[in-house]
Amino acid sequence: MGDIVIAYRIEIKGLVQGVGFRPFIYRIALDNNILGWVENNNEGVKIHAEGTESQIESLIHDIYSKVPVAASIASLTKTKIPLEHFKDFNIKKSSSNSQSITEVSPDIAVCDDCLHDLLTQCHRLGYPFINCTNCGPRFTIIKDLPYDRHQTTMQPFEMCPVCKGEYENILDRRFHAQPIACTHCGPVYRIENSERPVKTGDILAFIANEIENGKIIALKGFGGYHFICNAHDEQAVSRLRIRKQREKKPFAVMCKNMQIVKEQFKLNNKEEEILDSWRRPIVLLRNKIPMAPSVSMQLNTTGIVLPSMPIHYQLFDNLVTNSIVFTSGNMTDEPVCITDSIALDELSQVADIVVTYNREIYNRADDSVVFVVNEKVRVMRRSKGYVPSPVLTSFTTEGIFAAGAELTNTFALGKGSQVIFSQHIGDLKNAETMEFYEESVDRFSKLFRFENQFVACDSHPDYLSSNFARSLGVPTIEIQHHHAHIASCMAEHGLNEKVIGFAFDGTGFGDDGTIWGGEVFIADFQEYDRKFHFDPVPLPGGDQVTKYPWRTALSYLYKYFGEPLLYSGLPFLEKVEKQEILLLTQIIDAKINCPLSSGAGRLFDAVAAITGICTQASYHAEAPMLLESIIVSDCKGKYLYQIEDKTIVFYKMFHQILSDIQNKTEISLISTKFHNTIVAMILDLAKRLREENNINKVVLSGGTFQNKYLLGLSEQLLKREGFEVYSHEKVPSNDGGIALGQLAIAASYRSRL
Ligand code: ZN
Ligand code: ZN
Ligand code: FE
Repeated sequence: MGDIVIAYRIEIKGLVQGVGFRPFIYRIALDNNILGWVENNNEGVKIHAEGTESQIESLIHDIYSKVPVAASIASLTKTKIPLEHFKDFNIKKSSSNSQSITEVSPDIAVCDDCLHDLLTQCHRLGYPFINCTNCGPRFTIIKDLPYDRHQTTMQPFEMCPVCKGEYENILDRRFHAQPIACTHCGPVYRIENSERPVKTGDILAFIANEIENGKIIALKGFGGYHFICNAHDEQAVSRLRIRKQREKKPFAVMCKNMQIVKEQFKLNNKEEEILDSWRRPIVLLRNKIPMAPSVSMQLNTTGIVLPSMPIHYQLFDNLVTNSIVFTSGNMTDEPVCITDSIALDELSQVADIVVTYNREIYNRADDSVVFVVNEKVRVMRRSKGYVPSPVLTSFTTEGIFAAGAELTNTFALGKGSQVIFSQHIGDLKNAETMEFYEESVDRFSKLFRFENQFVACDSHPDYLSSNFARSLGVPTIEIQHHHAHIASCMAEHGLNEKVIGFAFDGTGFGDDGTIWGGEVFIADFQEYDRKFHFDPVPLPGGDQVTKYPWRTALSYLYKYFGEPLLYSGLPFLEKVEKQEILLLTQIIDAKINCPLSSGAGRLFDAVAAITGICTQASYHAEAPMLLESIIVSDCKGKYLYQIEDKTIVFYKMFHQILSDIQNKTEISLISTKFHNTIVAMILDLAKRLREENNINKVVLSGGTFQNKYLLGLSEQLLKREGFEVYSHEKVPSNDGGIALGQLAIAASYRSRL
């Protein structure tokens, strides 16, 4: 009975292309004596398998247990079919290559097998560009499809006979590994501009020694340069701050290995898992043993990453210190540097030594950043290791371009029913970043054979991304910023119905011409109804207030309590001249450059300023981040707020905060009570809207929900009240995720035309 040969059609869907999946199937088919074939098609991989029941079962077991790291199986179905009596097992040519668009894999951290080969393979002993089908650069070196060596920046390197042999041997782990290389034929590192060592081993020893001596190194990575220095050397780290002109924004840190991470940071299983994953993102972890103070400044968390390129491992082998600062090699606000000549001109003003290699980076990709809340990984910055993996949706996206927002921009293209996100682009107001944006739109369009038929952009009149979109000469739909936030989260979770949406962020263009950002909607892809919003306050100086949270605080106090000099004695205004306070209130009265804002970010700014924790900010969202970092876990107290018609009024809350300050209440308690107030308000409004509209699904989106405490507690309490709660995981809840919402709304609009 068990020896009867039968045939099955096995279909696998998910991210299974461009990751060595077919050779993998070939190898395990041979292992299990399976006959038949495997082929790619548009949705995934199809297998014709002939063998005994137990052989086929064992094949399926191997598919799951030995799957290549970068692949992910969404579904596997098997159907019994007639036997065709194959004599061998083959890889069939792809049936429709033109449409197969999932072939570009993100870059993959070096695998354990390669790290082992580094010590044992004689043509790759200590060779820092070692890679295989399971690891190495991908997206950052690809110029065009199909993914083939001559279409990558490996093109100038001719394979030596040994590498070629491996490349052509289907049983070898490096079969069709496009970036395959060895000591004899591949790229090499070099130290720029010096008579210093040239051999890899000597370079490593030299830069390790320099790092120990407090020097700063610019090191070329997969997707761009990094600045590196000893994370335990305060002098080195503060020198890096001064030279990079980065006053306070925290630096990421690379730790030697997981054990070192565990010694210095608190982490749970989920955090450990993502930190160790092949994507190698920076993971926000809670500090345990502090690094040099200038690493994370006053924050209680640090962005941690493990080594991902062979050279990182080799560097730690040469170092005494177990942790190094690992931050993007750029000047503040500019895109990360990828060009060797620019590195030499500009990065050398920050770094003492520039270490480069002779392979071009084609697609720039910053490090991705994630955090874990309620046991779920949340992507904050989606770039290296994630891009260009598509986000799957349930609607037709073909031909739609979504331009994204302006800060932390990403854009997106629709292919089939997929959404392909660009890498993190950055703040488009910076000229170099805008150039990078336009170049990336071009490159993505070409790479993915994208034909632009329909464009979605933010309704902001001046966003550079919107201006760019409007100039394309294609039918364009303009989308309200917070509607796009909610739609982004809906699309991520496959929702297509009316939801209760909380969109909290710093700023977005509102339909009434004011700045929105504390928005409670009933929304679907088609429309939205602004049910509640934060009480608008004037922002004296407009955008400038983001740098001066004390001004926003003053504006709130003036709005609620009048009489400017009444609170001039408050500690946070101690350093401000009475004249300046008066002037500011006069500006508010005269409505000169004082746009109204209901932004949640501004409310957090104001509370951070009043408590004195941050009156002036040196980077985006510094005040809210500092406010969050002093939260205490055992405080359940909260403040009062009022709902007046559609407006959420904070008069009572500020009144209570002021008396707490007068009573010398600890600011950590004030911060916690403030956060609890916002959570209570979310719960309260969700219940009201559920009652009135019979909707039980709640969506949380916008940059404010990167606040771990706010997101964590809101989600827990809403669930406890029986709500179905949706928040971001795969795409950022900040403006870096907005393109998905724009694309979803545009797709819905187009389908109704
Ligand atoms: Zn490998
Ligand atoms: Zn070679
Ligand atoms: Fe936003």
